[in-house]
Amino acid sequence: MGNKERAKERREKRHQEISFLRTIPYSDHQRWWSSDTIAVVTGANRGIGFEIAHQFALHGLTVILTSRETKVGEEAANVLQQGGLNVVFHQLDVVDPSSIELFADWVNQTFGGIDILVNNAGVNFNAGSDNSVEFAEKVIGTNYFGTKNMIKTMTPLMRPSASGARIVNVSSRLGRLNGRRNRIGNLSLRQQLEDDDSLSEELIDQTVTTFLEQVKDGSWTSSGWPQVFTDYSLSKLAVNTYTRLMSRVLSDRPEGQKIYINCYCPGWVKTAMTGWAGHTSPEEGADTAVWLALLPDQFVSGKFFAERREINY
Ligand code: NDP
Repeated sequence: MGNKERAKERREKRHQEISFLRTIPYSDHQRWWSSDTIAVVTGANRGIGFEIAHQFALHGLTVILTSRETKVGEEAANVLQQGGLNVVFHQLDVVDPSSIELFADWVNQTFGGIDILVNNAGVNFNAGSDNSVEFAEKVIGTNYFGTKNMIKTMTPLMRPSASGARIVNVSSRLGRLNGRRNRIGNLSLRQQLEDDDSLSEELIDQTVTTFLEQVKDGSWTSSGWPQVFTDYSLSKLAVNTYTRLMSRVLSDRPEGQKIYINCYCPGWVKTAMTGWAGHTSPEEGADTAVWLALLPDQFVSGKFFAERREINY
């Protein structure tokens, strides 16, 4: 059996295990949430985000399904509402500061805060073996800066609770710092991003800004950036490192006001982003986000997951 077949077998086995795990209901003791628990999902009008919203609602939470396009977002929310689920819609474009501000004001006035934030909204403009950076600014702007803007704006609105508020960032294995393939070639930069003492918001911002400058002057191809879907991989690498950084920043909060933040890779999922290629359904791709956000008893922060297991950054 070749490596590909073995990987396929392992993946299918894990998907079966997770399908089984999903049939086990949370006990009353484990359910720290209720219908008053508010979960926000970005980019939830379709794909993985829609499924995350769906699964939260099935668990009995109140879900704020957001979308940059009002009409499609309302339609998506309506599908879930028709099924008797507790879902409300609000417009939210994660690259538009005024949209984020309006959203935060509305959340504050309507609910007084939130308990869960899933940063799912994302874009990718490459497929197959393409590696165009034509839309690099949009990719970095949405995937990294959009996620960061949401965290900065929504963190003050996260409600105190004994279970802690939760942030989950939807990321990708393509953004791994130390994967076997697709790494940043510059060893010193990699070490700085890896080392908690040198990791800072400025370093992450500077890394993506340097890349975008090189895209403009054409020098990016010879600068040792990830080789596959370079702009997308770097945007997710920034999301991953920002998750680690924020976990440390947020760890100073006193008991009762904790916020736990993690990221995960949903796998290669059949959505519009992949042209419906992939070996994972949106339902399976959403699973780890929901599992992480609802983790009972276990207070995990600053980690990277796939298929309900921690993986290396
Ligand atoms: P889709 O393209 O189906 O969904 C992406 C969602 O993000 C859409 O709802 C889209 O809205 C929304 N979005 C894009 N830009 C913005 C913005 N500025 N503001 C708000 N929403 C926005 O893709 P997936 O469901 O596959 O992707 C979801 C997440 O999963 C992404 O972060 C992606 O990077 C990640 N991921 C996906 C993988 C896969 O194999 N599919 C693999 C690894 C990670 P609109 O409909 O208006 O475009």
